[in-house]
Amino acid sequence: MSYAAQPPVPHRITWHAFLGNMFGVFAPPVGIVYAMYHLWHRGFDWLYLALLIGMYLFSGLGVTIGWHRLFTHRAFKTPTWVRATLAIAGSMSVQGPLLWWCAQHRVHHQHSDTEGDPHSPHLHGGDGFLGTRTWAGSFTRTART
Ligand SMILES: [Zn+2]
Repeated sequence: MSYAAQPPVPHRITWHAFLGNMFGVFAPPVGIVYAMYHLWHRGFDWLYLALLIGMYLFSGLGVTIGWHRLFTHRAFKTPTWVRATLAIAGSMSVQGPLLWWCAQHRVHHQHSDTEGDPHSPHLHGGDGFLGTRTWAGSFTRTART
């Protein structure tokens, strides 16, 4: 069965999905800033803020540069120590095993927003945020099949 022959999935989003999406996007950073403000100098200070930002950037660059561009798309070559560092940095994002992530992302590019896309927000029984949550949960489903 060829997925390429299927028409693109029409974009549709309901209000409850939109509100869930907005809550999922904005509530965590607002909560973090709120907690930092109330815990400043009482368990949270410049050191922890620097660690938070540094680790966020480290793991984010590990996924975007390492897992995505280097390991999935093989967009560039690096020495072994850089590959190892980017693999570890991406692993710190807790997005599943590296090889599984690369395989899922390659399938995603082959079937973007059509049947067969493992993490389209428009498929898998949910729009927007619900669809992306399915992608995160698909690790356990695909690992067992
Ligand atoms: Zn990609």
